[in-house]
Amino acid sequence: MNSIQNGWFREVSPLWPSQCMSLEVEEVLYEGRSDFQDVLVFKSKTYGNVLVLDGVIQCTERDEFSYQEMISHLPLNSHPHPKNVLIIGGGDGGVVREVVKHPCVETVTQCEIDKKVIEVSKKYLPTMAVGYESPKLLQHIGDGFAFMGEHKGEFDVIITDSSDPIGPAESLFEKPYYELMKAALKPNGIVCTQGECQWLHLDLIKEMTSFCKTLYPVVRYGYCTIPTYPSGQIGFMLCSLNPKTKFNEPVRKWSREELEKLNLRYYNSAIHSAAFVLPQFVHQELRKL
Ligand code: SAM
Repeated sequence: MNSIQNGWFREVSPLWPSQCMSLEVEEVLYEGRSDFQDVLVFKSKTYGNVLVLDGVIQCTERDEFSYQEMISHLPLNSHPHPKNVLIIGGGDGGVVREVVKHPCVETVTQCEIDKKVIEVSKKYLPTMAVGYESPKLLQHIGDGFAFMGEHKGEFDVIITDSSDPIGPAESLFEKPYYELMKAALKPNGIVCTQGECQWLHLDLIKEMTSFCKTLYPVVRYGYCTIPTYPSGQIGFMLCSLNPKTKFNEPVRKWSREELEKLNLRYYNSAIHSAAFVLPQFVHQELRKL
């Protein structure tokens, strides 16, 4: 690994050719190879501790709340009674932290492939790994694709908080996985997956939207802003088995007091609705599908 040179981490990947995010490093906290990927945690000068897998930034302490809140509350607040939630990936614990904020959620099942990610997150990313303290959590270590194939009709909401489609998460961006998620949902269930960036991965987003529309009656792409993901944005693919779901109209709207009590720093009802307003170059491509 030589992603750190002259005191700067550089995020070079074929997924975003000829561009990269750089962060100045204060201290390397952990560096090693798990059974699945290169794992790096460093303390940055301005973004707190940073988790990097196979050279790609997964989360930073300063801006993680944007992604974790949106990938969790967009689907959960689009479902009238989410009781049983499944998270695939999400090894840092931030999505569990957000999901358990919903009192109606009774169980949160997580399937993360790499126990090393959980271990380093507990040590170096405590504000995310706090989710692991919830008594609602049932945790499995294993491949999310295989896990999905073993569960039928069990979950109200499935959140796939995966890394990018190069490496262990590749199968989680393909149609067979969306077929398995459909089978694992209860009636009227909802899925929400890490949907990559509209500036960089429009072809992938189009492909995923196309095959999702053959499986689910309601399919929408939404996004949030976040400085340390490539091009400063990341998207979500949302699919519902309930033909009446309107993803841009949350079924639960939290008051200002509730937002404060739940410590929400990015999500609110207005940004929930706005997340689905797409720039014209994306809108015109997706509406044709
Ligand atoms: N939001 C982040 C991003 O887009 O960069 C993802 C963060 S989360 C740390 C991603 C997690 O997915 C990692 O912990 C990784 O180990 C896990 N993962 C990757 N492939 C997986 C698979 N096939 N099954 C379960 N978990 C997987």
